Amino acid sequence: MARDPRGNAATGTFRVVSGRRSRLRTSRGAARRLSLYDWRVFGLIRTRRRRRILATESIASELWETTLDAVPVLALLDSGERGRLHDLSLLFLHEKRLEPAGGLELDDAMRVRIAALACLPILELGLDCYDGFASVIVYPDEFVVPGREQVDEAGVVHVGDDVLSGESWDFGPVILAWEDIEASGQGDGYNVVAHEFAHKLDLLDGSVNGVPALHRDMRVDEWTAVFQDAYDELVEQIERGEEPWIDPYAAENPGEFFAVCTELFFDVPIDLQIAYPALYRQLAAYYRQDPAARMRRPRDRRVS
Ligand SMILES: [Zn+2]
Repeated sequence: MARDPRGNAATGTFRVVSGRRSRLRTSRGAARRLSLYDWRVFGLIRTRRRRRILATESIASELWETTLDAVPVLALLDSGERGRLHDLSLLFLHEKRLEPAGGLELDDAMRVRIAALACLPILELGLDCYDGFASVIVYPDEFVVPGREQVDEAGVVHVGDDVLSGESWDFGPVILAWEDIEASGQGDGYNVVAHEFAHKLDLLDGSVNGVPALHRDMRVDEWTAVFQDAYDELVEQIERGEEPWIDPYAAENPGEFFAVCTELFFDVPIDLQIAYPALYRQLAAYYRQDPAARMRRPRDRRVS
């Protein structure tokens, strides 16, 4: 299924690409780098603004609980996780524009659901990880991107329409279909929201290459070795004509592989942990979450 054609890595190799960071543009359009002082002032203002929002506003509790309980992977969250996700979602709704398109009307329940699903991957990472884009465009269902160029294996350029359920533009908006947002987080391995926002996390270090900016206690060589093994196995399964457990779309490139594995990590974590334990450990270390343990928790401890 064509979910999006993005992912700059043209090869099937997981590697770190550095030195290709975006530059912020001023309102006059001239590019300039922000100084450390600029960043500190910007960070201070933002921190104060966020504190003020969290101190004075909240998502209506009935709407919030109804939203979480309607999405199985969110319904598993305990009270502490629900609280953190609430705060992130509230700030997300303040800082990102949710723009309906294609005749869709977005009500509060839809906005809260999008925010909650989008913020699950950053539950332990923080909203700053979603810097670099300002809006989320939502279509009612699959949308058509006309006249897109695709280059085949022989290097031939094909131009045609793409029918997509989600897309993440480099340093641009995330585009989603409401129909697929509703299907996300149901515990069956399909989660277009986690997929598209995983691309945003991957892009933070300047390149969608399947290697996001890892934490200091993680090792890039371990990440790339584990992901490369799993990626190569998927490619081999496809070449042998087998039906792989991981969506074959993940074999497009390492960026897509990371995004699809993120879907599995949040949607069917126990299955992923059993099938790919080393890969699961890397994702758990990166996202600082253990959704398999969350899924195994007795129900009464989730909501206590
Ligand atoms: Zn993708």
